[in-house]
Amino acid sequence: MRDRKTLIRKLIKRDGTRCHYCGIELAFDDPNAENYRTIDHKFPKDRGGRENLGNLVLACHDCNIAKKNKSYKDFKDSQS
Ligand SMILES: [Zn+2]
Repeated sequence: MRDRKTLIRKLIKRDGTRCHYCGIELAFDDPNAENYRTIDHKFPKDRGGRENLGNLVLACHDCNIAKKNKSYKDFKDSQS
């Protein structure tokens, strides 16, 4: 699971290429793109969240930043 590319491929296969939270189409090739993909920890790493597929989703930069200190559920709820 240390290989980011493999991880991202698995996430795309499971979830597709859209942001898990807002649903915009993500960019995977251009790190400078506004919608460049990030890997978000549903349960934050600094609160003990695991670095495994079940805890990871693809998210756009904005959502990743916005979510930062919120729990997954709080953030998901605030999206709709
Ligand atoms: Zn988003």
